[in-house]
Amino acid sequence: MIYLDNNATTKVDEKVLEEMLPYLKDEYANPSSMYDFSRRAHNAIKEARGKIKDFLNAVNEREIIFTSCGSESANMAIKGVLAYNNSKRHIITTKVEHPCVLNTYKEYEKQGYDVDYIGVNNSGELDLEELKTKIRKDTALVSIMWANNETGVIFPIKQVSEIIKSRNPETKFFVDAVQAAGKIPIDVQENGIDMLGISGHKFHAPKGVGALYINSKTSILPLITGGHQERGLRAGTENVPYIAGLGKAAELAAAGLEYEAKEVKRLRDKLEAGILSSVFNARLNTAITNRVPNTTNIGFEYIEGELILLHLSDLGICASSGSACTSGSLEPSHVLRAMGTPFTSLHGSIRWSLSKFTTEKEIDYVLEKLPVVIEKLNKISPFQKELEHLKACKGGGK
Ligand code: PLP
Repeated sequence: MIYLDNNATTKVDEKVLEEMLPYLKDEYANPSSMYDFSRRAHNAIKEARGKIKDFLNAVNEREIIFTSCGSESANMAIKGVLAYNNSKRHIITTKVEHPCVLNTYKEYEKQGYDVDYIGVNNSGELDLEELKTKIRKDTALVSIMWANNETGVIFPIKQVSEIIKSRNPETKFFVDAVQAAGKIPIDVQENGIDMLGISGHKFHAPKGVGALYINSKTSILPLITGGHQERGLRAGTENVPYIAGLGKAAELAAAGLEYEAKEVKRLRDKLEAGILSSVFNARLNTAITNRVPNTTNIGFEYIEGELILLHLSDLGICASSGSACTSGSLEPSHVLRAMGTPFTSLHGSIRWSLSKFTTEKEIDYVLEKLPVVIEKLNKISPFQKELEHLKACKGGGK
């Protein structure tokens, strides 16, 4: 199997699993109990919190709250901050956020909040000029992702925070860093971030654990009330093995950033250049420079993404379609639509996302098989005239 869907989820690193196993087997104590047995579980959480603090360059461990996933981190930040300060009724986000932010914002819109959705250009880059005009006195919160899950495009978070704070120092800034963690350096202080969410399963920890950074100047109300855990901001007995795994994954991710920037990027670039040069109806759907190193998104004009994925799956290749397919109805990706991607490739877009486990041999295999698949699908496309025209324009199949 060739797994090129690492923005969907990643393989658990063996070292992460090793870190977790003692807490799934013998060290099963509740970390809040008073005996020595419990102290070891308590210390495992403390150590992991320190590792996440270092990973994000937070000021202190108290700023890190463990959650169950990226979606929970986003919900906790958005709902928590708006519940704490419910007098300001204007909030801002972008048109290309993950549904965990977009659908949460839609709920506030239904409740009567004034919501602005900032647009992007054809390469998926944020419209900073638009953002500048939208911040108001009553803007309670701006939520902007660090890296896009479909295109890999990186938003200029430091510039965004400077824009927000220069216009309204009281506006809170939440960053969904789920697709940035483990791919590019994250520094919450340097970038002026109030709250930031990450998710373990996107950087080789298991599914079911994440974290939310909240700086000491930001107050929120909890989503889950109950015990005193996580400073009373997220009640419930801590998931010790997964938290220990998250800490280890963060430590490994920090150490692996150089490999991501060089080797993962080299393989991604090879895949991308290989596809674009061998398939005449391939079209790059993302910015070339401001991207995380592991992601590319390529549209195959006049053919269906789902068909490409099925053929690739038969060859043992896992990738992902730019369009979400829910209960049989094909909805083109909201991200590609916001970018104004032409309809000719909107339905035939494929996201390829690599990881530190991707090998050159795997990339070579995809580059050998994919052109054959596309050629086969081109033959059954209902748009034969258009394909012929495109082929002629591109110089006969290059
Ligand atoms: N934010 C982004 C950008 C994502 O890509 C994802 C998952 O795909 C999430 C949030 C949600 O993360 P989780 O699956 O851990 O809830």
